[in-house]
Amino acid sequence: MSDLKLPGAPYIGYQNQTLMMENVALCDVATEFGTPLFAYSKAAMLSALEEYKLAFAGRKARIHYAMKANSSLGVLRVFAQSGCGFDIVSGGELARVLAAGGKAEHIIFSGVGKTRSEIREALEAGICCFNVESEPELDVINEVALSAGKVAPISLRVNPNVDAKTHPYISTGLKDNKFGIAHDHALETYKRASTLKGLKIKGIDCHIGSQITEISPYEDAVSRVLDLVDSIEANGIHIDHLDFGGGLGIDYEGETPPKAHALWTQLFKLIDQRGYGERFIFVEPGRSLVGNAGVCLTRIEFLKTGEHKNFCIVDAAMNDVPRPAMYEAFHAIVPLTQEGRSKDTNTTLTYDIVGPVCESGDWLGRDRTLSVGVGDALAILSAGAYCMSMSSNYNSRGRAAEVLIDAEHVQLIRRRETNEDLMRQEV
Ligand SMILES: *Cc1c(COP(=O)(O)O)cnc(C)c1O
Repeated sequence: MSDLKLPGAPYIGYQNQTLMMENVALCDVATEFGTPLFAYSKAAMLSALEEYKLAFAGRKARIHYAMKANSSLGVLRVFAQSGCGFDIVSGGELARVLAAGGKAEHIIFSGVGKTRSEIREALEAGICCFNVESEPELDVINEVALSAGKVAPISLRVNPNVDAKTHPYISTGLKDNKFGIAHDHALETYKRASTLKGLKIKGIDCHIGSQITEISPYEDAVSRVLDLVDSIEANGIHIDHLDFGGGLGIDYEGETPPKAHALWTQLFKLIDQRGYGERFIFVEPGRSLVGNAGVCLTRIEFLKTGEHKNFCIVDAAMNDVPRPAMYEAFHAIVPLTQEGRSKDTNTTLTYDIVGPVCESGDWLGRDRTLSVGVGDALAILSAGAYCMSMSSNYNSRGRAAEVLIDAEHVQLIRRRETNEDLMRQEV
């Protein structure tokens, strides 16, 4: 599609100096639907999914899309129609999966703070498995199940204590964070779980972090989890499925994480060697399925030049794309047309790209060299994951609209939030 390889290529790239997503010029979409606007490439999502499917061909395995990465119904529907299961972390996410046509029996429920009513709803829906993150949660699920006359399928999320070599806020597999049951306590917790009448032990689960760009942390985690399975089964407790979570990284600024296919080919070698190749394998990828498939389109409101710094003030903000403010994360930001800058401001400057929110933390990109004018539109790349799903109404800003692009078709999947929407629940 282009000379310059952008994150999201080949589904996103320049053609005749115009930024295209699939067969659609993003400048036309920005004009038609307004900004800020999220656009997602359906082909990019399906191709990311295909990487996993390829690795699992001929295996007993299921892919559960970790929907907190992007929980818009139009996105969920793409994965539901492709036969994915879902990893959920709340009752709200359960309702969304069911509304999008996902199957209850392919849902896994993760999260450290499930409430009794969420547990009851999930039991009534008939989900596949609860990933239990603590001993007290085990007791609560048992109680809720007994009082509902049901048996809850469970798996324990164990903490393999491996370093995923990622940002501390998105690392979850080290022993001092809030997730999971410590490796050293896993066996005794399984033994206790096996005595509770409201529970049926189905599997074991781990999830070591996010934006992981190397294979070795996964190898460490798989091997630590399989050690545990050895000892759990030696104690007469059978483990049906092995769930290795999500966490595979994407390209934000030239990272080269392994493709899902390469990662899993490598991991299956290890799993086969250890004699577990015939077990049901679950994964819970989020970011790697949607992150590079989405962009956030935004328009330049003001260019403010100063002695030490220049600011490019755009109409998207930390409430739309929270990752820079939250994790100091990098997103590539590129113009929608390479030649189309306003004729009177044809200079190239280095800018901090910032939003209108009244916080110094409201920045989207730092020290970016751009040749742009007021009214030009930009695309914030790699914005398919953990952007819209983390968005807020801070500063009483309505959430952005979203479109799904499929070849030359553009479909609105979420209307822009209005001021009435924002005030609806207040009494
Ligand atoms: C967030 C999360 C995932 C998905 O993580 P990604 O880095 O987006 O792949 C999977 N499993 C659990 C339990 C999670 O909390």
